[in-house]
Amino acid sequence: MKPQEAIKYIQEHNTIPDNVKDIAISSLKFKQQFDEIGLTIEKVKELKEKSTPKKPNKYDEFNCEIHLGYCPDCDNVVNDDYCECCGQALDWSEIE
Ligand SMILES: [Zn+2]
Repeated sequence: MKPQEAIKYIQEHNTIPDNVKDIAISSLKFKQQFDEIGLTIEKVKELKEKSTPKKPNKYDEFNCEIHLGYCPDCDNVVNDDYCECCGQALDWSEIE
């Protein structure tokens, strides 16, 4: 049963209390939005992980004024707030 069919089923059944209907329908609409854009809970967790800044591994070879380090996830050389290779957010505080 697709979310839209489940919503219709719930709406048409008067034996289901209204507050339960509201929760079920909002959950199904949420699932429907996820399905439409191809998101899964695993993908959302991965995106959350990538957007939470991690400290880069220090790159000691150069003593530059610019940020330079290694991405903690993919080992790419990084110098920005995000890794250009894998998109991991980076936290440069305390590394200056
Ligand atoms: Zn990376």
